[in-house]
Amino acid sequence: MSVLYTMEFKRVFDLLLKQHGPQNWWPGETSFEVMIGAILTQNTSWTNVEKAILNLKNKKILDPHKMLRVHNTQLAKLIRPSGYFNQKANKLKNYLNFFKNKYGFFVQKMKKESVEKLRNELLEVNGIGPETADSILLYALEKPIFVIDAYTKRIFSRLSLCRESVSYYDLQSIFMTQLPQKTSLYNEYHALIVHHGKNICKKSKPRCGDCSLQSMCPQTSL
Ligand code: SF4
Repeated sequence: MSVLYTMEFKRVFDLLLKQHGPQNWWPGETSFEVMIGAILTQNTSWTNVEKAILNLKNKKILDPHKMLRVHNTQLAKLIRPSGYFNQKANKLKNYLNFFKNKYGFFVQKMKKESVEKLRNELLEVNGIGPETADSILLYALEKPIFVIDAYTKRIFSRLSLCRESVSYYDLQSIFMTQLPQKTSLYNEYHALIVHHGKNICKKSKPRCGDCSLQSMCPQTSL
């Protein structure tokens, strides 16, 4: 990759930050809440996740010990607003069992492990895919790993910085070789991409006239 290419990735970050400001992610009061949110947000909007998390808080079970003891049916009922609630209740239980058996529910113990070890362990948990694993690593455990999602693929393929069909790992590797491996940078960058993809570079009708990346985008509709 050329030096120019590296500059493009940094330039996109600077322009998005200038347009949208710091996003202060992840929305969650504790690392555990972030872990739970990362699982609940699969295939749904954050608004729905917030409702599910509020239900867990109101029932006072947003705690790993208590949540593991709750029956799956009851858990599914509480997280219903997040969709796929039966599957997600199972996924949460799988994650809780892993978190208990490997780390005794201690986030700090988990944080001491390497990103590679944790990533392999997380991907072995049934229901945790690459995006969820990396979200937990970056936002709950503060590890320097770049999270890729559909917004990232859409925006960066429109910018001609990757192919539309690029794989998760290939695009992740591009970001992580093009940028310094810094948790704070990866945290902010992914959050800005999500905000931009939701509000400006939309799937069917991109708002190119309001886009700070317009001058570098070959796909601009204006
Ligand atoms: S100019 Fe349009 S297509 Fe290009 S990144 Fe911006 S919103 Fe997306």
